[in-house]
Amino acid sequence: MSQPATLPLFMETPVEDIPKIYDEFKKSFATGKTRPVDFRKQQLINLGYMLKENMERLCQALYKDLGRHPTESEAGDVGMAINEVAYVYGNIDKWAATENGTFVAKWSPMGPQVRKEPKGVVLIISPFNFPILLSCGHMVTALAAGNVVVLKPSELSPHTSALLAELVAQYFDPTVVTVINGGVPQATKLLELQWDHILYTGSNRVGKIVATAAAQYLTPVTLELGGKSPTFIDPSMDLKFAAHRIMWGKVANAGQICLSPDYVLVPRQIEQKFIDECIAVLQEFYPEGARTSESYCRIVTEQHTKRIQHLLADTKGDIVFGGEIDVEGKYVAPTLVKNVPKDDSLMSEELFAPILPIIAIDDIEEGIAFVNSRDHPLAIYVFSFDKKFQDKVFDNTRSGGAMVNEVVVHAAVDGVPFGGVGASGNGYLIGRYGFETFSHLRATLNSPPWFDKLWPRYPPYNEPNLRR
Ligand code: NAD
Repeated sequence: MSQPATLPLFMETPVEDIPKIYDEFKKSFATGKTRPVDFRKQQLINLGYMLKENMERLCQALYKDLGRHPTESEAGDVGMAINEVAYVYGNIDKWAATENGTFVAKWSPMGPQVRKEPKGVVLIISPFNFPILLSCGHMVTALAAGNVVVLKPSELSPHTSALLAELVAQYFDPTVVTVINGGVPQATKLLELQWDHILYTGSNRVGKIVATAAAQYLTPVTLELGGKSPTFIDPSMDLKFAAHRIMWGKVANAGQICLSPDYVLVPRQIEQKFIDECIAVLQEFYPEGARTSESYCRIVTEQHTKRIQHLLADTKGDIVFGGEIDVEGKYVAPTLVKNVPKDDSLMSEELFAPILPIIAIDDIEEGIAFVNSRDHPLAIYVFSFDKKFQDKVFDNTRSGGAMVNEVVVHAAVDGVPFGGVGASGNGYLIGRYGFETFSHLRATLNSPPWFDKLWPRYPPYNEPNLRR
């Protein structure tokens, strides 16, 4: 891909400017200008145009940050954010409308209702791996709910973050959406302030810092974290089909996906056949090898590449495919490792890398017990055409999401919530679920004076009808 001449430089927001920007956002929200639904719709239009009109530059920036092919960026990052804009735009009138409470005869004279009110000033902190989807994609429901948004994208994807700052300034009122660029100093300053909601997407380690900061003001916080998402395989599964989907989820974005199938639990009797199918798939995806393939991404930084190198160097498993790492080139080959002990280095943390540990198990119970002995993952995948096998896994495990014969894509499926459970996070995003996350559901009543005839509530409490 040609080197773009039009990408802005990454400029950190001066830390001392942050309190002033915050005050402006507080004042801006207090004017009430973001409350009308038409205003919110206009913000979605602005966002939609921002993403569509700048697709090429965004894909260039993503290429510079991640070495990612524009096809992957367009479909899986920018395109998914545009889809969210379109889906939410089409539903906002319905979601934002005040709803009648569930009918309960005795309270019905008071006309209980639920108003959907914006929370106020929302802080979104996003990671490097899908820098547009996880910033702009989540901004959609925050804006649709009538909030103002301060966005802190990742310093590890500097070209995209710099471009975001430029574009947001161009397409939005600077007191409705703004970008604060920088790293820990900026994030730390932001977290000292009192927000009306914080959405944090990133690692569990930083998630704890964010949750602690939010607790200081009892700020509601949504944590979209990571974890080790396991994949179960049915002994009678079509392994060619399963290998295609699993390996796609493993090598897309070079495995830097929170929902990437982290490891596979494979019945011992089909382990070798599964490995053979995975190797065949990798040779099909990258006929000349992944290293020279334009379709294969790089690891975001040398530091992250070194982290992966250490994990692989320490494994007691057998590398059966791949294994090459070039720290300077930020390259990690698609890698398959078998005979991985359950306490291996590759099982010690979320891999966030194109390395697939394969753990042979004797039966499904062993796999379930292993998964249940660890933190609840963001996703669980089951490759099986047998409903009993599928149900057995779903009914006996916990995870943010769970899918049959598919990986990763539920984050893109409108109409279902996206979020973790336990150590993989909390709260729900996407579509209506995101809209409600960023809304305050305010109960209202309008109680008629004659209601007292139905409910003699006032003292003295000596009337017979109050005795039990
Ligand atoms: P990260 O936690 O290192 O960084 C995320 C954000 O937090 C960045 O904007 C960064 O500047 C900020 N940050 C870093 N240190 C901070 C500190 N001390 N105080 C406050 N803020 C700080 O995460 P990453 O490496 O960019 O992303 C990878 C992680 O994100 C993986 O664990 C992955 O699973 C997770 N993730 C989760 C989801 C999801 O939706 N659940 C999606 C994508 C990525």
